[in-house]
Amino acid sequence: MDEAAREAVIAPHRRSGQLSGRCLCGAVRIEIDGNYVAAVGACHCVMCQRWSGMLFGSFVAETKAVTVTGPVRNYASSSFSERGFCETCGSSVWLRSTDPDEPEIELLPGLFKEAADFVLLSEIYTDLAPSYACLRGDHRRKTRAEVQAKHPFVEGDN
Ligand SMILES: [Zn+2]
Ligand SMILES: [Zn+2]
Repeated sequence: MDEAAREAVIAPHRRSGQLSGRCLCGAVRIEIDGNYVAAVGACHCVMCQRWSGMLFGSFVAETKAVTVTGPVRNYASSSFSERGFCETCGSSVWLRSTDPDEPEIELLPGLFKEAADFVLLSEIYTDLAPSYACLRGDHRRKTRAEVQAKHPFVEGDN
């Protein structure tokens, strides 16, 4: 799928507005004021399985629209990305690029009440999905080989 086709899939879910989220203990607060995509992508790679305990899902917001306060720590999970978590309660907060100019950040939908009605847009590393994490619906699905043909990846995600 090229960029134009990808954008056609995402476009109906683009939103602009305010969303508030928080971690389990409440020490980390996330405010979105600006552009985000009201749709979730799920990942079954082994790194995401380990990090989340089962299934990782995220939605994208414009980096400059996001304000985070509280004790977030980062774990560099690859040479090009890091995973943020609350140092008090351990809630996953973000998966983001280490490139400071990256315009988008991936946030965890479970931190936002308003995200409960976001649609499931895509599912990747489907061939690695454990049997207890099958997602129903007709969303886009990609295997590990299909993902890795087009995106950077690290050894150890399988
Ligand atoms: Zn917390
Ligand atoms: Zn993953």
